[in-house]
Amino acid sequence: MSIRVYAGVDQGTTSTFTGLYDEEGRCVASARRRSATSHPRPGWDEQDGLALLAAIEDTVAEALARVEGGAELAGIGLANQGESVIAFDRRTGEPLSPAILWSDRRATEVVEPMAGTPQQDELEERTGLPLDPYFSAGKIAWMLRNLPGVQEAAGHLAVGTLDSFFIYHLTGGEFITDPSTGSRTQLMDLDTLEFDEGCAGAYGIDIRTLPRIVDTIVSEPISTRLGAPLYASSCDQQAALAAVGGISAGDVKVTYGTGCFIEANAGPKPRRPGNGLMPTFAWSMGQTRAWAIEGGVFTAATAVDWLVSLGLAPDAAAVSALAAGGDPGTMFLPSFSGIGAPWWRPGAAGVLSGLRASTTPADIARAVLEGVANRVADVIDAVEREQDPPEALRVDGGLSASATLLQLQADLCGRAVLPAVNRDSTAAGVAGFAAMGAGELDLPGLAARAAFHPPVAPRRDAAWREEHRARWRRFVAATRGIDP
Ligand code: ADP
Repeated sequence: MSIRVYAGVDQGTTSTFTGLYDEEGRCVASARRRSATSHPRPGWDEQDGLALLAAIEDTVAEALARVEGGAELAGIGLANQGESVIAFDRRTGEPLSPAILWSDRRATEVVEPMAGTPQQDELEERTGLPLDPYFSAGKIAWMLRNLPGVQEAAGHLAVGTLDSFFIYHLTGGEFITDPSTGSRTQLMDLDTLEFDEGCAGAYGIDIRTLPRIVDTIVSEPISTRLGAPLYASSCDQQAALAAVGGISAGDVKVTYGTGCFIEANAGPKPRRPGNGLMPTFAWSMGQTRAWAIEGGVFTAATAVDWLVSLGLAPDAAAVSALAAGGDPGTMFLPSFSGIGAPWWRPGAAGVLSGLRASTTPADIARAVLEGVANRVADVIDAVEREQDPPEALRVDGGLSASATLLQLQADLCGRAVLPAVNRDSTAAGVAGFAAMGAGELDLPGLAARAAFHPPVAPRRDAAWREEHRARWRRFVAATRGIDP
């Protein structure tokens, strides 16, 4: 007898992952394709949009083929990378640009001249986001200025986050996005949840070239060529927040992936947080809406994988094992793509400091993991200035497999860390959203599916924590001129 499943597709940065989830939310089969990222210049991160689209289709087909006895695909949820963008021909869907990734810094030349102008104030007020090349708007403006194919497309131009490109192809022409993704573009008005003409104009973008914003979870199924309708499309971090059970105001999750994203559920109303955090839309389904406040640490697993590429250890798990034997003293600022929250220094590069002739690979591995944990603690400190501190941090993502990292995190934050059993919670989240769209699940039901390993409790006291955090802030200040 075949089982009914919902597919959750997580089109992430390092890979495309599809999980198939049964009525209880158990993952019954999955498939993954690694993505190739090219770096034509320093700071440029590109992928091939059509290759990503093929990876979505292949992983869905492959996962379905792996279900013993066959599966009936009831619906699909799609998660996207967030700020990453692509331009394409609205008539044919043909890409007119590479997929320019969220971590790409080329839009620095677009946003830098806007600093200190009235446009900056207007953009920050409307969208709640700081001026930074991280957001989609600057990347789109860069394409409009630099890519002849984009300039020549004129009336046929479509530009948008990657979800809009995938959905266009999968549905045969629907050009839509959702507010969770829209809230990462710096083009969406926080209050109306529509793209704003003034914000688009500030970047030289014609608002008519952008997709239409629809609910994250739709109640009318959208047919696709994948064999089942699409019921939900969401930015990855917000789907993960729901999947680890972060559905109540105050809940905080940390996803340790390529970058590290910290989100605190902020309830049903938009909030414009200070402290270097940004508002992000979480999810919508009719009148049910949730907001979050977010801080991003743009370099996390990237730094671990960099150590692997240098030959320090054979893989990320081995880096983590190596780090367990490292001594403190060596320090690493993980900022290959600038420093994000709470300081926003787009030009910053990584820093390795405190080296001696006696420094070992283990010391460097430890410094990298400690640097990631300290950067997350920087964001958690900022979150705690905005709202009541959470009792525990719900964590997921590939790098949350590192016990060394999680212990450092608990010690540096002075609170317990709750590791999700399912480290691919984004896919589980969008699959759950899809089941919600089909009327077969609700948000508490989705949250109830979250399962955790035993909590990792802090082993250090407040004095240790304060000393280490102060030392970290002095290090960051010395390297980047940030107020400690
Ligand atoms: P993303 O969603 O951003 O593409 P993931 O959440 O899939 O990233 O995380 C992938 C990263 O997790 C890898 O690049 C690797 O550095 C790290 N990772 C994977 N497995 C392990 C492990 N067993 N121990 C430590 N780190 C791991």
